[in-house]
Amino acid sequence: MAITKKQSTALAKQVFEYAPAPEAIDHVKILPRYGLFIGGKMVAAHSKKHFPTINPATEKTLSEVVDADEVDVDRAVKAASKAFESWARLPASRRARYLFRISRLLQERSRELAVVETMDGGKPIKESRDVDIPLSAAHFFYYGGWADKLEWAFPNRKPRPLGVAGQVIPWNFPLLMLAWKIAPALAAGNTVVLKPAETTPLSAMVFAEICMQADLPPGVVNIVTGAGRTGSLVVSHPDVKKVAFTGSTEVGKLIQRAIAGTGKRLTLELGGKAANIVFEDAPLDQAVEGIVNGIYFNQGHVCCAGSRLLVQESIAEPLLEKLKRRLSTLRLGDPLDKNTDIGAINSRAQLEKIQGLVESGVEEGAELYQPECVIPERGFWFPPSLFTNVSQSYRIAREEIFGPVLSVLTFRTPNEAVEKANNTPYGLSAGVWTDKGSRILWMAERMRAGVVWANTFNRFDPTSPFGGYKESGFGREGGVHGLLPYVDLN
Ligand code: NDP
Repeated sequence: MAITKKQSTALAKQVFEYAPAPEAIDHVKILPRYGLFIGGKMVAAHSKKHFPTINPATEKTLSEVVDADEVDVDRAVKAASKAFESWARLPASRRARYLFRISRLLQERSRELAVVETMDGGKPIKESRDVDIPLSAAHFFYYGGWADKLEWAFPNRKPRPLGVAGQVIPWNFPLLMLAWKIAPALAAGNTVVLKPAETTPLSAMVFAEICMQADLPPGVVNIVTGAGRTGSLVVSHPDVKKVAFTGSTEVGKLIQRAIAGTGKRLTLELGGKAANIVFEDAPLDQAVEGIVNGIYFNQGHVCCAGSRLLVQESIAEPLLEKLKRRLSTLRLGDPLDKNTDIGAINSRAQLEKIQGLVESGVEEGAELYQPECVIPERGFWFPPSLFTNVSQSYRIAREEIFGPVLSVLTFRTPNEAVEKANNTPYGLSAGVWTDKGSRILWMAERMRAGVVWANTFNRFDPTSPFGGYKESGFGREGGVHGLLPYVDLN
């Protein structure tokens, strides 16, 4: 706690200077303009409207994509409905083959996809290369394995596909969220119409090429780009039988209201305000790494980010000292550089949201700590930030910031930790750091969160279900549970 800005500058200077290590981009072909992926091919849009997608690290335009209108969405849903008739009847082992093929192609094109994801979204290349793309491929591989085993997944039932799934995804993990949505839907015999986020449509466009490369039957996957209106057209189309949404709680509620009474199935994966709880017997250095991974990974643009650090009072001082020291070693800058830890904020709007919430924290009386770091002149950036003296009523402790901003609170007893951790409208994830297995179990039982990590944070695996309670949504993605929203068991 005693560490000052001056000391942090001195610390930063002690860090090794690294030579630039930019990832090559010459092997990546981004087209100047994309159409829509409907019926197995790229088609021109009825809307005739396009909008640019930019690189948030440079503010330069990368490409233009379609702002799809009602007619475009209707064409996509019709193509998906037509494809459903034969896709659902295809022997399940043949469906599995397509999923395995897609998984293989994602691996083959992983370097290209990692660069596209980083340029379009701003995340560090080491994250898109080591997390987003391998996990996306793993997801298709995993659900490919389930396609011909659905009767084992739901014993003594007769699982049947639902029809066309309308899927709307956010900008924080564009390809991974696409994989979370498309893989289980296809494995269960459904067809899909997917809308990627406005600021990160490009990896979905590469995925459309992959579907063509994999010879996926026309119409099984359709991708329509656009803004929120396109998303609402997808979810409210009368021929869409199942809606899957990941994004803000606000839009999740709008969708729930819009489709209420239509009989459509719905899963919502929404926001979070996770508590990362460190007990006095935790291995502190390991916990510091977990805290950093919990909130600064992907610039904090993570629904399950550990944005509230709850530290046992007796170790608050040494832990914060170590954490501040560690923050001064984080490298912010060019997301394409392999040494970068903190990349660009995804959009100007998101940057303004983060700035506004951080200002509110200062105004409400919290103490802000930011290590010395050089902010590039162009692009959208926010330094890794940490708030102490935070009260539970402050906005920074209640609202999802979705940026690299950590709020630190303290507790004395395990009961107090549980009470504070659960004192949120959200319930997506939590972390517990302690040496005692019994305490991990005691805490996990009491935590109102879909995922509780023990002595780790932000671990993902396709075999493991993920999803929330309360305002974090409902339904699970991943694992056998992830198949359930895509089958009719009646
Ligand atoms: P949104 O919830 O608006 O966006 C998620 C997706 O929904 C995007 O594809 C979006 O399109 C689309 N969409 C927007 N409005 C509608 C609608 N009425 N009907 C159907 N689809 C719609 O998130 P934002 O990008 O605006 O981010 C705002 C905040 O949401 C963030 O600051 C963060 O707190 C939270 N968030 C949470 C995420 C999570 O994983 N839980 C992911 C992203 C954001 P478009 O891109 O054009 O807006």
